[in-house]
Parts: sequence; C-alpha cells; structure tokens
Amino acid sequence: MDKVAVVAIGGNSLIRDQAHEDVPSQIATVEETCRHIGDMVADGWSVVITHGNGPQVGFILRRNELAAHEVPMTPIDVIGAETQGAIGYMIARALDNELRQRGLSRSVVAVATQVLVDRNDPAFQNPTKGIGSFTTREKALEFAREGWTVREDAGRGWRRMIASPIPLEIIEQDAIRVLLEAGFIVVGVGGGGIPVVRDEAGLLRGTIAVIDKDRASSLLASALKADLFLISTAVEKVALNYNRPDQRWLDYMTLGEAKRYLAEGHFLAGSMGPKIEAIIAYLEANPRGRALITKPDTIARALAGKTGTWVVADG
Ligand code: ADP
Ligand code: MG
Repeated sequence: MDKVAVVAIGGNSLIRDQAHEDVPSQIATVEETCRHIGDMVADGWSVVITHGNGPQVGFILRRNELAAHEVPMTPIDVIGAETQGAIGYMIARALDNELRQRGLSRSVVAVATQVLVDRNDPAFQNPTKGIGSFTTREKALEFAREGWTVREDAGRGWRRMIASPIPLEIIEQDAIRVLLEAGFIVVGVGGGGIPVVRDEAGLLRGTIAVIDKDRASSLLASALKADLFLISTAVEKVALNYNRPDQRWLDYMTLGEAKRYLAEGHFLAGSMGPKIEAIIAYLEANPRGRALITKPDTIARALAGKTGTWVVADG
C-alpha cells in the first residue's frame, strides 16, 4: 500500500470566519482545502481525513431548541452522527470532484465512526466543556432533568456542560483500514467520533459527551500506524512564546522538545495544546512516524520540507 497519512482538518477548513458560517460558504471552504489534499493524493499518499464539528454541533443544538415545540430533540451522540454525515458528504463530494478534474480515479468514502470511551472516565464526574447557547435558569433546570450538567457563567447566563473523555478505541478502525487497503480515500472520526460506552452486557450505547478531535485523530493515526500525522489548522507553523514580542516560529521539534515546550506552557490549552499532546501520543505509539502542523494552503510546501512545523521521535 502507498504511504498512509492521517490529515486532521481544523475549523478553518469549514468556517473561514464569522461572515462565512452558512452552508454554501462551508462547502466553498471545504473545496479549497480539498485542492490541497488533492496534491497529496496526486503525490501518492493514501489519505484518511478527520475533521472538527464544534460550530456545526452548536448550530444543530440551537435549531433543536428553537423547534422543540414541533419536532423531537436529537440526543448529542446523534447530533455528532449528523455532523459526520453532513461534513463527510461535503468533503467526499469536493475531493471526488477535485480528483476527477486531475484525472485521478480514486473514490472517497465517509465512515460514520463511533469512538469508545470509558463510562467511568473521571471526565463524566466533572464536565468542563461548554456546549450550545447561553440560557435562563428555568431552561437550564429543564436540561438538568434530561441528564445534562448545567453551570452558571458569571453574567452570561446558564450553559450546558459536557464531558470530554479520553478516546480508547475506534470501533470502525478495521473497516477504515480495509477501505484504505482497497484504495479508497476515507473520511472518519469526524468531530472526534460519536462517543459510545459499553454497558454491563458489553453492548454499545451512545453517551452525553464530546471527544477532542485531535485526540481521536491521534488514536486513529496510531491504530493505522500512519506514516504521517498532518494537523491542518489556522497557523503555518507552531511558535514558542506565541503572540509575544519574543515569539519564535519553529521549523522542527523532537518529541522530547515537544514535551518540554508543552510543560513550559508554550501551547495554549484548548487550541495548540491538544494538537501537541495528540502528536506526542502518536509518536510514542509510532516512533517511526512523522508529524506536521501547518495550514491548508501550505501543505504541499510543508511536505516538500519548505515550511510547517515538523515533529519526529528523538534520535
Ligand atoms: P482547530 O480548529 O484547527 O483545532 P484551534 O483554534 O483549536 O484550531 O487551534 C489552532 C490555534 O492555536 C491557532 O490558530 C493559534 O491561534 C493557536 N495557538 C496557540 N498556541 C500556539 C502556538 N504556540 N503556536 C501557534 N499557534 C498557537
Ligand atoms: Mg481545536
């Protein structure tokens, strides 16, 4: 098989800015990123694409709230599945068209992906990730009766809080591997995957949680023993002392340096932090792999060694 790359595309591959949140704009933005992924396929990479879904989940939650008097609400795991279907379709169609225009006959398939978490993960005792819009106390108490944790945010109102447990296993990972081996380009673990737990009988159940997409992408890259784990985001390179006068862009880090810089606080929690943690976990599981962080439009130049931040195992 060709060399395998897991390409995790960030929020900026779907929503360019606040003026471009509508679906036609999302499609145009996805098409732009797929041009760059097309370069990778043309270069001989077998590609698995993963993606985020934070804003899209927020839109569906809001739509649910506004329409609750008329149509049934959708549970959060099913919302995750909805976004995997919709975004998976956008990517599959855009990349299919991109490859066709280049005369490449490769098919793209999106896999609805469940990701197993531990039902005793401590994250469930203390949900920390805000989700959906701010609301009143009365509405919040209603959500609480449905099983949600709710919290008051000084001044801004009440908000549902959701757990972000550690992903343990990608349920469809063998299916994804077989599809890759058969020559398909795969879209998977969208939004970090649909969170599921095993009950006492060992059966899968959807759960109220969200999974960090960088963590889940790392797990997939490790499980597939991918040669490359590429995180495409809104910055061309990773910096030390980010946004400070003494900021320094990095071309290259070893695994050891990545751990040290992370411990020193160079990578913000909730943005670059989870990406570096994801790369550390991937390189520890797969020391021969290589990891890269860059923007969609610099992917080709980064793969040619001209930009981006590369991370490799020590020695
Ligand atoms: P994504 O949607 O791709 O996950 P995030 O916003 O979560 O994007 O993370 C990428 C962002 O991380 C960058 O746009 C940048 O603002 C921020 N960031 C935080 N720390 C750093 C750093 N040390 N170097 C570069 N970018 C950083
Ligand atoms: Mg992010």
